[in-house]
Amino acid sequence: MAGPRVVVVGAGPAGARAAEALVEAGLRPIVVDESARSGGQIYRRQPEGFLRPAQKLYGSEAAKAQALHARFDALRDAVEYRPDTLAWNVADNALHVVRGTTAEAIAFDALIIAAGATDRLMPLPGWTLPGVYSLGAAQIALKAQACAIGSRIVFLGSGPLLYLVAHQYVEAGASVAAVLDTATFGNGIAALPGLLARPELVLRGLGYRRDLRRAGVRLLGGVSPRRIEGDAERGPTGVTFEHRAMPETIDCDAVGIGWHLRAESQLADLARCDFAFDPVARQWLPRLDPDGRSSVKGVYLAGDGARLQGADAAEASGRLAALAALSDLGRRGHEPAMAELRMRLQRFERFRHGLATAFPWPHDEAAALPDDTLVCRCEAITAGELRHAVRGRGAPEVNRAKAFSRVGMGRCQGRYCGLAAAEIVAAASGAPVEAVGRLRGQAPVKPLPVATEFVS
Ligand SMILES: Cc1cc2nc3c(=O)[nH]c(=O)nc-3n(C[C@H](O)[C@H](O)[C@H](O)COP(=O)(O)OP(=O)(O)OC[C@H]3O[C@@H](n4cnc5c(N)ncnc54)[C@H](O)[C@@H]3O)c2cc1C
Repeated sequence: MAGPRVVVVGAGPAGARAAEALVEAGLRPIVVDESARSGGQIYRRQPEGFLRPAQKLYGSEAAKAQALHARFDALRDAVEYRPDTLAWNVADNALHVVRGTTAEAIAFDALIIAAGATDRLMPLPGWTLPGVYSLGAAQIALKAQACAIGSRIVFLGSGPLLYLVAHQYVEAGASVAAVLDTATFGNGIAALPGLLARPELVLRGLGYRRDLRRAGVRLLGGVSPRRIEGDAERGPTGVTFEHRAMPETIDCDAVGIGWHLRAESQLADLARCDFAFDPVARQWLPRLDPDGRSSVKGVYLAGDGARLQGADAAEASGRLAALAALSDLGRRGHEPAMAELRMRLQRFERFRHGLATAFPWPHDEAAALPDDTLVCRCEAITAGELRHAVRGRGAPEVNRAKAFSRVGMGRCQGRYCGLAAAEIVAAASGAPVEAVGRLRGQAPVKPLPVATEFVS
């Protein structure tokens, strides 16, 4: 292959725009994505043969979705696109991937990781019942498969996705009983300076709330979730919570839960990038310069996997990371475009702060979960067992607590339990959460088939 080899992980908004910039500079990047089709989360494409129009699938974002899909399709001959391919490790300047049962190491001169985000979940009693979905999974069922998760649904959590997904369900004709938000009105007021960086999105969010009310959906803020009622046979039968110190149960047959998102940063961890605790998101995030360069030479990060700034920012940061990689590879001349992208990203960063303030992670609730609540669903570890690892076995750090209790050691590798587990460890050891560390990424970041064969 002529020229340096640049590998991009992710064909969502960030990865697609990174690939576009690389192609424009005359390179033929390799784009790896574990999904069957490009588009990422927000612009997820429906399976081949499904014919719902873009407006139905993407609502107000239909034009952007179509533009991104069309651009990526136009690049198909200019990139080496590898769909259905999982990147499971980064080591010795090579990205390790698997497709089907064939694994391969792809050496790179530059690696752009644009792996997006996943739902941030807070365990609560009943969260592992069949019929309880993450908000993202509830949305995927609707977007990709045209299925609703139930016939009377409660959405519980906080964050923009909470209202967006509830709105999408109502638009699709599903029955939504209630939207229960742990954030308060006061959180929203405190967030206004940041939120006003993108007033059009604030108005859109308020519009979703208005439409939900008109559709008869109960909207409650400042709730304290207590449990999801039900059993393994019937699935969820209700959600119990406290609102203004009054307990209440709302009946339902399906629940969607989520507290905004967590950056998908395990590949950056395996690439040995430095991380820093971000008090705004209350998450550990890779350390980056304004252009997306990590602390490791030749490794760049873009999109929600770097900072949870949303889809428009993902497009800008993907392009910027690619231009930074090109500059570092000696292909200069991009400074004016980079300066303009940096400026745009500052606005998105202000908005990120606003969102995190408006929809805070209810860390006190996570820290105070009852002892018998399942925290790690892969390894069936309860909050009590985790507390015992901290207090009884002397593990005041999350990786030690993992070694003693197996929390975060299962197939999700702590993606879904890691943030709540850290809050429990911190509260049990009486330390701030940033002092108890973060679960280190381990390869493979997702399970590999037992029959995997390695080709050189
Ligand atoms: C489930 C979910 C639903 C969302 N829905 C909305 C929405 O409706 N509206 C909205 O405004 N925002 C939504 N968001 C946020 C939105 O997805 C992002 O702001 C935007 O898509 C970020 O773009 P990105 O390119 O950084 O990541 P993404 O769009 O998430 O793309 C990342 C890509 O990387 C691929 N990938 C990840 N890990 C690997 C790996 N190890 N190997 C190979 N490929 C990998 C994924 O398959 C994906 O295609 C959602 C987020 C999630 C998690």
